[in-house]
Amino acid sequence: MRAEILATGSELLSPDRTDSNSSWLTARLEEIGIPVRRRTIVGDDCEEIQEAISRALDRVELVICTGGLGPTRDDLTREAAALATGCPLRSDAEIEEQLHRRFAARGLEMPPNNLRQAMIPEGGRPLPNRLGTAPGILLEDRGRLLALLPGPPLEMQPIFLEQLLPELRARAGSVRVARRVLKVFGLAESALDQRISSLVGACPEVEVTLNFSPMDLELRLTARGGGSRPEEVLETLCVGLRRELGSHLFSEEGEGLEQVVVRMLREQGRDLALAEVASQGLLAARLFQSGGPLRCASSAPTAPGPGGRVLPGLLPWPADLSSARAAATRWRRETGACLALVVGELRGSGGQVFSPVALSGAEGTRAAELRLLPGTTAPLRASQGALDLVRLHLARVPTG
Ligand code: ATP
Ligand code: MG
Repeated sequence: MRAEILATGSELLSPDRTDSNSSWLTARLEEIGIPVRRRTIVGDDCEEIQEAISRALDRVELVICTGGLGPTRDDLTREAAALATGCPLRSDAEIEEQLHRRFAARGLEMPPNNLRQAMIPEGGRPLPNRLGTAPGILLEDRGRLLALLPGPPLEMQPIFLEQLLPELRARAGSVRVARRVLKVFGLAESALDQRISSLVGACPEVEVTLNFSPMDLELRLTARGGGSRPEEVLETLCVGLRRELGSHLFSEEGEGLEQVVVRMLREQGRDLALAEVASQGLLAARLFQSGGPLRCASSAPTAPGPGGRVLPGLLPWPADLSSARAAATRWRRETGACLALVVGELRGSGGQVFSPVALSGAEGTRAAELRLLPGTTAPLRASQGALDLVRLHLARVPTG
């Protein structure tokens, strides 16, 4: 079974509203092995909604619409669904009764336009809404399922979870889904693509998507299996990917680099003293938020160190590799931490800027010149490059 999601509402086409319903539904459907093939947003136009529903029902076995079930003039989804499926709207006596009761219980007169919410395409089944007035509707059309759900997430989600999900789970059968998120650092997107393309090509059962961010590269792997075991298919591909990506691969569970580094520090019982300029305090923040064993942290350019002193050992802040090495060694001695990490100043201009980073530990000192793009991503990437240096050190990957 494959799905499409249709979000209706002109406000969703404006720049400041996000269609969060579709993301949420996609995640729930993925969990039960129903892939979402397309997501569409349509404004409050009956003809356009009707066309979108018809097209979607031509393509896939399940179409879920959200929004446009309310009582107002711009709520047109039920009319559009009736036209798309050729099932005329009929008033449902039970829903009418419930609407009357709901208003009466609050001592209110029901405005007549609320009765629109009792209209259900013939053959459809209402999906009661305990948190609002508009019930959802489930329709079957040529063996395909069309579900209409209200727009407000707090109403849509319980209807989906309580009433639709059990039915979909039963229909989707026992499709098992295995998923893994591989995180990669230190490779360009095209280089990564080149390294993995033949492996991925040889494994068509696994769907692979590649996401690029200023922080890292993410490979999302999904395997679905009826008879075969998706976990095994996925693992076979991962064996090859591990070999191909080597130490560039830092997580198979979608973790951030700071989480990986903090876990390694804890496992090895080490703490870290930090002094950073180019990363502008982001390293300290990221490690701190992940509960990292920080002995102390100092940010540029004249931040006080332990005990409130300005750290003479760190001034002037290092601007090249050899002074970064020397600063890391001094910083470790001065703080007594197991490891000392120093991120030096940002320098350079034009298309590229650089920052030296050095890590000192009992095993020696390792250093690297981080190549960064000027602009707002530089501090983030500096923090990521520095974290990766720590990771490689803790993993005992030889410097190269
Ligand atoms: P109501 O009875 O509240 O009018 P409805 O089913 O008619 O419900 P809409 O009128 O389309 O739904 O939307 C009501 C509100 O629900 C929107 O103002 C918005 O806050 C939220 N909403 C609608 N669609 C979405 C969506 N796709 N993602 C997130 N929120 C949404
Ligand atoms: Mg509405």
